[in-house]
Amino acid sequence: MKIVCVGRNYREHARELGNELPERPLLFLKPPSAVVRDGEPIVLPPESAQVEHEAEIAVVIGRRARHVAADEAMQYVAGFAPLNDVTARDLQKTDGQWTRAKGFDSFCPLGEMAPLCNVDYRALEVIGRVNGEERQHGHTREMAFSIPELIAYISSVMTLEPGDVIATGTPAGVGPLRPGDVVEVEIPGVGVLRNSVVAAGA
Ligand code: MG
Repeated sequence: MKIVCVGRNYREHARELGNELPERPLLFLKPPSAVVRDGEPIVLPPESAQVEHEAEIAVVIGRRARHVAADEAMQYVAGFAPLNDVTARDLQKTDGQWTRAKGFDSFCPLGEMAPLCNVDYRALEVIGRVNGEERQHGHTREMAFSIPELIAYISSVMTLEPGDVIATGTPAGVGPLRPGDVVEVEIPGVGVLRNSVVAAGA
């Protein structure tokens, strides 16, 4: 299983971090070792003073995909799940490469998948909450690159295997996580992902 992530796929989020929308999808990877499930804690590593939530719509691949056209891309999708692309924002800025900032253990909470047949992927919303307060609210229509376009683009680079996950980018409103916080990512009609936040060694 691999986790392919898309950066800066919502205009307002790109702007809040002082970035332009990219000309083509901006890709990076999170390691499978970062995955935790609903109810498991996000552990804040001592290396970072600024760990942030990023509520995202995850696409789960159902069939092997290589050089897939956008208009056929949804045939390769098993379903959708809520995902939190937890990011050490300070390390993302200082490292340049994002592997460490995005790759700590527990930095990829991933919820249960809802099958494609139960979901209208063109009208999905994603909501991020911290301690019950809404911080992020995005809609697939606000994406710079649509889900089929992302699958086509990524599958032109690498083979997508069943079980692989694409994190499709986060809307505006990212913010810090502190020990004791509870962070939720909800995709209405798909599900809710809820994780508490703890300091390392706690
Ligand atoms: Mg992200």
